[in-house]
Amino acid sequence: MNEPVFSALYGEILKKEGLEDYLPFASEFEELTGRLLAFNAHTNITAITDPVGIIERHYADCLKIAPLIKEGASLLDVGCGGGFPTLPLAIARKDLSITSLDSTAKKLTFVKDTATGMGLKVTTLAGRAEELSKSAPLRESFDAVSARAVASLPVLCEWCLPFLKVDGYFYAMKGAAGLEELKSAENAVKTLGGQVAEIREDYIEGVVRYNILIKKVKSTPAAYPRNGGAIKKKPL
Ligand code: SAM
Repeated sequence: MNEPVFSALYGEILKKEGLEDYLPFASEFEELTGRLLAFNAHTNITAITDPVGIIERHYADCLKIAPLIKEGASLLDVGCGGGFPTLPLAIARKDLSITSLDSTAKKLTFVKDTATGMGLKVTTLAGRAEELSKSAPLRESFDAVSARAVASLPVLCEWCLPFLKVDGYFYAMKGAAGLEELKSAENAVKTLGGQVAEIREDYIEGVVRYNILIKKVKSTPAAYPRNGGAIKKKPL
């Protein structure tokens, strides 16, 4: 896709979504799109392959949390997959130090090569969240944690809250079931030292999205996360 066409679409969609602050990054998002489609041609990392869909459902969706993260924060993106929200945040918030975690190494190859090629500040980490958050150096070491489309909220809380420093925020990026999931995660949030700080309802092309912000108010008890199987079999 040539540059004027991409930047016109990008500009139109970002304005419609109230994301004008990120208009200056059109050419970086165009480069990301080229890289995403080229990689996706041989290794499946996204089912969305048309530029409008990519801008709306990947970039605009991820950029909705960009203004909410504190200046200079260290951010862990759990289950980053093909780099969402990692890569849009790395482009739009160059003050952040982002670590991208996924259990599937081939997806991290894309994130790592893209970040290096585009000069973005991203560190990649292969492994399972529930194993890495058990102990130092990662436990209670991040200002912010994000997760989009990774697991149900009670499970995600047990994977993600242990990584956060007290006073840090977990950004759970959820779809239409977000509020129901939040109800079933009440006990998990409390047990793990969290408190719901804000629920943001957004619509991307008429489809509801919930960005649920959970603040860490107390240290997570050492008993959590439990061993892998127990977290999913018996969510808190
Ligand atoms: N966040 C990306 C997005 O929004 O496009 C990817 C979502 S994809 C549906 C879920 C990702 O979570 C997969 O890449 C998977 O490998 C990763 N994942 C699943 N369980 C995980 C775990 N226990 N620890 C780390 N990553 C995990």
